[in-house]
Amino acid sequence: MTVSPEKPARKLSMKQRYTALTHDLDWTPTYVTEEEIFPFTTFEGIKVHDWSKWEDPFRLTVEAYNKYQAEKDRRLYAVLDGFAQSQGQLGLTEARYMNAMKIFLQGIPIHEYDAHRNFSYLARYANGPGARFAALCQSMDELRHAQTEIHTLSHYNKYFDGMHDWHKWSDRVWYLSVPKSFFEDAMTAGPFEWLIAIGFSFEYLLTNLLFVPFMSGAAFNGDLPTMTFGFSAQSDESRHMTLGLEAIKFMLEQDEDNLPIVQDWLDKWFWRGYRLIALVAGMMDYMLPKRVMSWKEAFELYFEEQMLNGLFKDLEYYGIKPPRHVQWAIDEKEILSHQVYWVLYQYSHAAAFTTTIPDEADQAWLQESYPETWPVFKAAVWDKAQRVQDAGGRYFNPGLPQLCTVCQIPMGFTEPGDPLTQCQRQSVYEGERYDFCSDGCQWIFDREPTKYRQSWLPVHQIYQGNCGGPTLPDVAAWYGLQPGDGAEYLGSPDHQNWLAWHGQAPKED
Ligand code: FE
Ligand code: ZN
Repeated sequence: MTVSPEKPARKLSMKQRYTALTHDLDWTPTYVTEEEIFPFTTFEGIKVHDWSKWEDPFRLTVEAYNKYQAEKDRRLYAVLDGFAQSQGQLGLTEARYMNAMKIFLQGIPIHEYDAHRNFSYLARYANGPGARFAALCQSMDELRHAQTEIHTLSHYNKYFDGMHDWHKWSDRVWYLSVPKSFFEDAMTAGPFEWLIAIGFSFEYLLTNLLFVPFMSGAAFNGDLPTMTFGFSAQSDESRHMTLGLEAIKFMLEQDEDNLPIVQDWLDKWFWRGYRLIALVAGMMDYMLPKRVMSWKEAFELYFEEQMLNGLFKDLEYYGIKPPRHVQWAIDEKEILSHQVYWVLYQYSHAAAFTTTIPDEADQAWLQESYPETWPVFKAAVWDKAQRVQDAGGRYFNPGLPQLCTVCQIPMGFTEPGDPLTQCQRQSVYEGERYDFCSDGCQWIFDREPTKYRQSWLPVHQIYQGNCGGPTLPDVAAWYGLQPGDGAEYLGSPDHQNWLAWHGQAPKED
């Protein structure tokens, strides 16, 4: 952009300012080759002929970016202050609501930070200035998400168990290896696969299934801080979705040889992302005292309607087909949350959240939302758990579950159309046997066995003696769990404190 000295400088349009401050700052190197500057964008096989074709759907300068974000932060921190000063935690629906936020705190912010790291790698190593700048903005967003999520939830740590050592738990505790292995899988892929994994599959295809129920769940249950954080992140999220969509379209438009590679990644990351948010399904249907909508309804609305019937119709133009194992996910929508919560229930003595048998109101809601599958699960598992509880006990699974080698979730999923037969798939690679929860996870392993054979599977690690010792107390100590962090909700310190704060404590003799 040159302004001649004779003419007075006119005000630039937003688009011109954006171009001047991003694309126009780029230069053509003369004494090093493109391969030397950008060594990581060729090995995955994606062919790019013209990086200048990368369109920036969001035209934001650094100056404007900082101004918007600072304003959003000011609003968020004002709400956090007000909530803390007015003892806002007393206005939650119930203490057990916090379990959803415990899982969120333990499983999400640390991987927002991973996303920050990998987008800053892209901000350096993507060849085109448009792609680099978009990655830079997302990198800053993700850092801010990690920080604001931690700040948002830190107030609750003063009043509730299960929130004190999430950082350490993320590296050690069995269910947190599910999100950890997901993000580490993406970070150890190349830059284009990362963009399909996180930018497209996670941020575009699945993000509404993760964020909308969490944030509306927060709103419904009196959790003003989390709701405000959600609004603060939402405008970033729409930029991320646009980047994900631009990334896939750019790859597909650059060369038709890119199509099969992109389709494979899409198939892989849809399934990985879908398995990851199975935790959200269990949370939505079982952990919120006041529900927003069922997992099944959310899946139909945010995935089947918006993605399958909307987005994938548009992508057909490029030859992209819906994800390979999508029908399996559709078939599972009736049973997914039941299966996940049952796993969480039986193993919460080794976790940093509490669980409990759905109470009368919960059961009525489950019956209404899942008229066909709830009665089957109730009879198969909850009636037994209830009998144990009525006899003064609590059912915990005394053994260790087998984990799926890819998604790392305990093997509790079932054959499609048959909710009572556990699904188990096996592949043998170089004489070793590997087990999977589904066709989707097996397919992912078979494509890249040398990657997944390295999985750090928590149960295998316990058996190999790497987690503090052979007994549950040994492992819990190594995890850094304290009494009250996990096990049964009824009678837990969180529950008792809640009753005491609200003047409902059982009378002392
Ligand atoms: Fe984020
Ligand atoms: Zn799996």
